[in-house]
Amino acid sequence: MTTLQRKEVNPIAHLSPEDIEQIGRELDAIRDEVLAVRGEKDAKYIRRMIAVQRRLEVGSRAVLLFSVLPPAWILGTIGLSIAKILENMEIGHNILHGQYDFMRDPKIHSTTWEWDFAAPAEQWKHSHNELHHKYTNVVGRDNDLGYGIMRVDEQQKWAPAHLGQPLYNFINACLFEYGIAAYDLELGRNLASKRRRNNPDFRARLRQVGRKIRNQMLKDYVAHPALSVPVGLAFGNPFGAFFGTMAANAVANVVRNLWSHSVIMCGHFPKGVETFERTSITGETRGEWYLRQMLGSANISGSKLMHIMTGNLSHQIEHHLFPDLPASRYAEIAPKVRALFEKYDLKYVTGPFVVQVASAWAKVFRLALPNRKPARAIDHTIPPRHPAEATV
Ligand SMILES: [Zn+2]
Repeated sequence: MTTLQRKEVNPIAHLSPEDIEQIGRELDAIRDEVLAVRGEKDAKYIRRMIAVQRRLEVGSRAVLLFSVLPPAWILGTIGLSIAKILENMEIGHNILHGQYDFMRDPKIHSTTWEWDFAAPAEQWKHSHNELHHKYTNVVGRDNDLGYGIMRVDEQQKWAPAHLGQPLYNFINACLFEYGIAAYDLELGRNLASKRRRNNPDFRARLRQVGRKIRNQMLKDYVAHPALSVPVGLAFGNPFGAFFGTMAANAVANVVRNLWSHSVIMCGHFPKGVETFERTSITGETRGEWYLRQMLGSANISGSKLMHIMTGNLSHQIEHHLFPDLPASRYAEIAPKVRALFEKYDLKYVTGPFVVQVASAWAKVFRLALPNRKPARAIDHTIPPRHPAEATV
């Protein structure tokens, strides 16, 4: 059953088990409404998004053939950064969730899609779809909470190593795609013992990541830079062209990494987002599962452009409730979801991007230090399902 980490105010104390199951039924109804209309419009949307992204990427790479010229370098780098963000978020994350599997198009399918990211799609799908989305915000089970390197909740024991967590988090943000690859591999745990290190399954996955990183590096840091050498020769600066394009690709990768890391931090870290006890998921009902997703996620408010650039993870709450619905539908169901929060007196955590990023970073800094006052022992379990159990 959903058990909140100990907090001074329990935000679900007023809900009866019947209320929680009713919330689940109302959310199922919202989901069914989308399923009833899902179809051609959604297929058209993702096909158009892929076409726009590809044109932008090809165009930016063409401009970067002239990377020896500073205006071309700037324009190409900006274009490529945007193309990589779209590819990663609105396209990759959402297709890999199976949001467009209903199209039965073998090219746009969660089983065949591969993305421009160090983490191989297959491994990411396991750690993201099967683990993070299932164990959302359960401390000790959801590795997205601090990626195993940070203290993310007052209830977690503090150690001196946590003092460095703002630095680890910044490095992880810059190298996010490699951090995700390492995290999908559960690298820390698997390298810790000889038995795990030599496990054939782990070694096969390690080789798969190695191949993916090598191909990514060859593409961004060798092949495309080499293509700009002839233009560089014409300008008498072939080395400048090669290294200019290489730097442009590196900048675009870092920009995409910083952006996706920030968006993801906004999803589960800002103030007001709840975390849950390790035992939360034992015997969890559908209503309780929905409730955990509602309380464990936060949105980013903003324009349509902001929603597209975040892969609609600006609607993280709706995404966590319905991870397999086309993300472009989240904006239209968000008012209904929000109304449900209000009806049951629950906090719908949302705010502008800058505010949410600052709030998430403030938590990283605050928890780098030990708690100022001892954590209070308050029991926040959802009331038992049968009144008779209440006396036990
Ligand atoms: Zn997701």
